[in-house]
Amino acid sequence: MATLLVLRLRRIHARLLTEEARKVQPIEACAMLFGESTQKEAVVKRVVVALNKLQSSTSFEIHPETFVKAFNEAEHEGLDLVGLFHSHPAPAAPSSIDREYMKLWGDVIWLILSSTSGDLAAYKMKNGKVREIAIDIVAASS
Ligand SMILES: [Zn+2]
Repeated sequence: MATLLVLRLRRIHARLLTEEARKVQPIEACAMLFGESTQKEAVVKRVVVALNKLQSSTSFEIHPETFVKAFNEAEHEGLDLVGLFHSHPAPAAPSSIDREYMKLWGDVIWLILSSTSGDLAAYKMKNGKVREIAIDIVAASS
């Protein structure tokens, strides 16, 4: 049975990510998405923008210290890492490098913003295959 997974993202968070991408381009922007997830949906409740350690326009790596700090804070609030965000100056689809990393990240959703078109898309790897999932932009807290 196919699972219809939806990523729910607050409008304010979507705006924050878009602005960050615009600010740092052509470097890839990156962020961690924390929240709660079930089989049907992943609800983003906290977004932590991070420095791209690689300062690259073709790949990203979240600074380890930022990652650990954000992870601990989220855990304290009972939130899980539900997604990873990055931008790239190409269509909002995973690059071959992204696909390699997706294999390592398991259940995490990959949210990608095209800094050229402004498109936002989400993907998840399942059984070695990358699937696009729906994004629901929500107005306020839920
Ligand atoms: Zn990418």
